[in-house]
Order: sequence, then C-alpha cells, then structure tokens
Amino acid sequence: MTIYTGPVFEMCRQQFAAIADHLDIPEVERARILYPKRAVTVSCPIHRDDGSIAVFQGYRVQHHLTLGPTKGGTRFSKNVDIGEVAALAVWMSRKCALAGLPYGGAKGGVTVDPAALSKRELEGLSRRYMQEMIPFVGPHTDVMAPDMGTNEQVMAWFMDTYSMYQGRTFPEVVTGKPVVSGGTEGRREATGLGVAHLIGKTLDRLGVSPSGATAIVQGFGNVGSVTAENLHSRGVRVVGASDHTAAYYDPAGLNVTALMNHVAHHGSLAGFSTEVLIDPDELLLQPCDILVPAAMEQVITGQNAGSLKCRILAEAANGPTTPDADKILAERGDEIFIIPDILCNSGGVIVSYFEWVQDLQQLFWGRAEVVDRLYSILDRSFQHVADRAVRDGISNREAAMAIGVEKVRGAKQTRGLFP
Ligand code: NAD
Repeated sequence: MTIYTGPVFEMCRQQFAAIADHLDIPEVERARILYPKRAVTVSCPIHRDDGSIAVFQGYRVQHHLTLGPTKGGTRFSKNVDIGEVAALAVWMSRKCALAGLPYGGAKGGVTVDPAALSKRELEGLSRRYMQEMIPFVGPHTDVMAPDMGTNEQVMAWFMDTYSMYQGRTFPEVVTGKPVVSGGTEGRREATGLGVAHLIGKTLDRLGVSPSGATAIVQGFGNVGSVTAENLHSRGVRVVGASDHTAAYYDPAGLNVTALMNHVAHHGSLAGFSTEVLIDPDELLLQPCDILVPAAMEQVITGQNAGSLKCRILAEAANGPTTPDADKILAERGDEIFIIPDILCNSGGVIVSYFEWVQDLQQLFWGRAEVVDRLYSILDRSFQHVADRAVRDGISNREAAMAIGVEKVRGAKQTRGLFP
C-alpha cells in the first residue's frame, strides 16, 4: 500500500524498476531507495480579494536525507497532487546525485492556478504555504526553490516569512531569490543556460553546426524562453515555440526577442501572430534538429514518439517522456540523441547549490564565476553519462539514473540501517 499513486509516480516507479534490474538491486533494498522519507500535506487558507476565504492544498515531499538536506522546487499548478510531487522529489534525488551535490531530492506544490490569483492573493498563499512548512524545512533540513508557477518574487516571500518567524534573516532557506535579497547571479537563467550548453555539446558530438540547426521549444516560461534565447545567440534557428495559450511554427525562424517581449507585456504567447499559428500537438511533430520540451511531464508518449522528426531530444522539463515513448524511440533505430531530464535541466539545482553555499558563507561570486562553475559540473556529468551508456550498452536516461541510484544506494549502505 502506498499513498503515491497516479500516472507520474507510476512512470517514476517503472523507471526505477528497470534501473534496479540493471543494477541487480535485491528486492529487499528497493522500497528503501524508491519511497520518500517524508511527505507533508497542508491546508492553506487565504482571504480572496472579494472577502471570501479559499483553502488550497499544499504538499512537500522529502525523498531521502542520506547525503544532507533535501532540495527542490515548489510548483503552483492546477494539477499538482502528492503522486506528482513525490515523483519530482525522486527525480531531484537522482539529479543531485548525478551532479555530485550534497542533497537528497525534495519537491513541493500547491494545487492552484496561479494565473487566477491577484498579486495580493499570490503573496498571501505563498506566505501561508511557507508558514505551514516552517516545522519541516530549514537551511540544513530542506531548502526550497522555484518551479512551474513560482518565481523569484515567491521565493522572496518564502524567505521573508521564514525569517520573520525566526527573528533574523535566513537567505539560505530558499534559493532562486532575487539577487538583491541574497540570491546569486545567474540563478534565474541557470536552467535554460544549462540546457543550451548541453545541446551545444551534443551538436558538437554529432558533428552538426549550430548555425545550420533548427529548434522547437515547448513551454516559454523561465526555462523555455532562456533556452530559446541562448540557442538563438549560438546561431540556432528557433522555428517553433509554444506555451499553454498558443503554438507557433515558422520554418524561416521565429523572432525570439519579439516572442520574449510579447510575453513580458501580455503574460503569455497568445496574440503574437495569426500567420504562424499551429496546433500545439502538431508542433512537436514538425521537422527540427533539436526538440526541447520545457513545460510539463508526459508530453512525449506512445502516441507521438514514433512521429518525432528531431535528432536531439533535450528534456528541459521534468519527466516529459513516458517509458512507452522511450521504448519506441529506442526501437526506431534512427538514434535520436536524448539528453535526459535529470542531466538536461540540472543547471537549476547546480546554481541553487551555489546560491546556498554563497548564502551560508556570506561570500558572493560574480556571474562569470557562477557560469564557469556551472558549465564545468555539466561537462563532467555529460561525460559520466555518455561513458556509462557506452560501457553498459544502455540509454543515456538509464545511464544517468544508474549513476544517481548507485550513489544514493552506496551512501545508504555505508551509513547502515538505524535500528
Ligand atoms: P514556468 O512556470 O516559468 O513556465 C512553464 C511554461 O510552460 C509556461 O510558458 C506555460 O505556459 C507552459 N505550459 C504549461 N502548460 C503547457 C502546455 N500544455 N503546452 C505548452 N506549454 C505549456 O516554469 P519553468 O520554471 O520554466 O519550468 C518548466 C519545466 O522545467 C517544468 O517541468 C519544471 O519542473 C522544469 N524545471 C524548471 C527548473 C527551474 O529552474 N525553473 C529547473 C529544473 C526543471
């Protein structure tokens, strides 16, 4: 029996079973590695602007405490449930282990459509969520960060709420804060920069010049827009982009700066153009060198995997590809190069780690130092994954997961089982 149900956790469970088989992990050890250590659910009441009271459900799942505090984003989204949050926490654990960070994974979420809240209501909800979580988080217990539907401002409210309660400022309790409130240079754009850097390395490996390459980016929030902008600056032609309101495709190339300006002024991509509109499901199937899902889970599925026309699948989102789709992609024989999510989007947590370290030391680095250190960790992880995939004859995803699982398993074995 488990409280962790639903399609996203099921996908996480299936992935783990395959890796555990590959690593010959005995049955008796598996539950201890897969299931989260702690899960907290809270009810967050807030006053709406019209004077009514609304109550939102919130979650925080801490996957394991074996290597240090837990670390992970907080998602505000209509569809969040405990199974999804738990799966995201498990993936965070693998991601941190792969990058060599001293963390277990965590994730949090509130079931809410943030676009339906006023700024005052969003602040009320953010503060109430953090207030409810105070007994369970802390700089050496569990450190929060942004994810879908949350941003630097929400992190500043989280940090302020925690600090007001403690009676002194604790910038190190959350990462992804504004630089002026103890955040680090480079964090806001870290995930997208990392995605683009790894795409650059993959293009090199495949012998494809960035200036002749094309990309389609699904999701135009923090991660998708920064990825598109950085790919564009490398000479890649961004031919497709979408968000939850609209999808555009133009083989001649979209104007990425104009797309970003449109979102900055209107909040979404809707209304950008009527000429290059495309059905969002069709967008993923258009020919391109680089396909970047940067929105949500389970968008590359058994239904569309056989029809993708890309050479590189760069998983900026968490869990965008289902196990069914993985199987089809492997069987296609045209060797789409997959940069698996726990490698591809790890730039975010790597620079969050830098932010935590700087806050603890009260010694701050410049942007160039942050980005240099980020790229050097990503280069190391990319090499580990590529080498392991060749050594074991497995996919990049299996290699990345195997490295992550092995590290956590090894640490658990040496620490032993507390009686
Ligand atoms: P965000 O809220 O800034 O942006 C999400 C984007 O996805 C928005 O443009 C939204 O309109 C779009 N979207 C939502 N539903 C969509 C749909 N059905 N079709 C197309 N687009 C849709 O979130 P983000 O921080 O950019 O996160 C995006 C993904 O990257 C998530 O999977 C998140 O877990 C992952 N991620 C984020 C970070 C980070 O640092 N922010 C780090 C690692 C992984």
